[in-house]
Amino acid sequence: MKKTILPTLLITVLVGLRVQADPTITTNYIKIGNAQIPELTIDGVEGFQDTPLEPGSQWHVHDPARPQPPVVTPGATFSQMAPPPSDAIVLFDGKDLSQWRDKGNGGPAQWRVEDGVAVSAKGDIQTVQKFGDIQLHLEFREPTPPRGDGQGRGNSGVYFMGLYEVQVLDCYDAKTYADGMTGALYGQHPPLANACRPPGEWQTYDIVFTAPRFDADGKVTSPAYVTVILNGVVIQNHQAYRGASNWRSLGSYSAHDAELPLALQYHSNPVSFRNIWVRKAPVVNEP
Ligand code: MG
Repeated sequence: MKKTILPTLLITVLVGLRVQADPTITTNYIKIGNAQIPELTIDGVEGFQDTPLEPGSQWHVHDPARPQPPVVTPGATFSQMAPPPSDAIVLFDGKDLSQWRDKGNGGPAQWRVEDGVAVSAKGDIQTVQKFGDIQLHLEFREPTPPRGDGQGRGNSGVYFMGLYEVQVLDCYDAKTYADGMTGALYGQHPPLANACRPPGEWQTYDIVFTAPRFDADGKVTSPAYVTVILNGVVIQNHQAYRGASNWRSLGSYSAHDAELPLALQYHSNPVSFRNIWVRKAPVVNEP
C-alpha cells in the first residue's frame, strides 16, 4: 500500500508546485496606430509588462502579475442614501443633471436620468462648479447581469479636478490588473482591499481628496492625496498621486488652477449613479 501511495503523493505535490511556479501566460497584440502592443494574460488577468516600472516597485504599470488585494465582504448598507450635511453642495439628488455639463463640448450632460438614477452614456460629464480639496459622497451600481471582463466590465471613474482618477469598475468575482481595480488610483496604486458588492447592488464611495499644490514656477510642492472608503472599507489611506491618471504611463503633474471641475467617466459601459454631494474640506484646521 505504502509503495503506491507515497509516489502518488510525491507526484501530486510536484505537479502542484510546477503549476504554482509556472503561471499560464498568453500574449495578444493590440494595434494602436502603427504600433503592436503586447497584452499579456497571466492566470486570467490581462495587462502589460512593456510599460514603465512603478517607482520603487517591482511591478510595471498595469502589471497582470501584481498580486490581487484581499477580498473583504462589506457590511450591509454603509452610508447608502446618506443625507448631505448642512454645508454640502448637492451635485445629484435624483432629479436632473443641472449641476453637470458634457466634458467634451460644454453642452448639457448627455447621461440618462430615470427613476432617480443617472446612467453613464455618450461622454464624460463634469460639474459646473469647480473644486479643490473636497469630501465626496457618491453611490454607483454596476450593470446586472454583468457584461464584459477586465477593464470592460462596468468601467467608469471619479476624476478629481478632471485629472486624478479613482477607478469605478465591477471587480466582484472578476479580475483585472491590480492598479486598475475598483478604488485604484488608476495606473498607480491598487486598492488595499477588494470590497466590491455584487453587480446590481448599490455601492458607496466616501472620499477625501486633497488637491496638489504648485509653486510660482509650476513645480509640485505637495502632491494630490486621496483617502477612499468603499462600502465602509478603507481602500486608500492618504495615498499620493504621482500625477494625472493615464493609461500605460506613470502619470505626471502639470501646474493647474487651485479649483477645477469634478468629472465622471463614460467608458462605453452603462454605470448608474445616485446621491452625489461634496463638501469643501479644508486640509488644516485654523488655530
Ligand atoms: Mg475608469
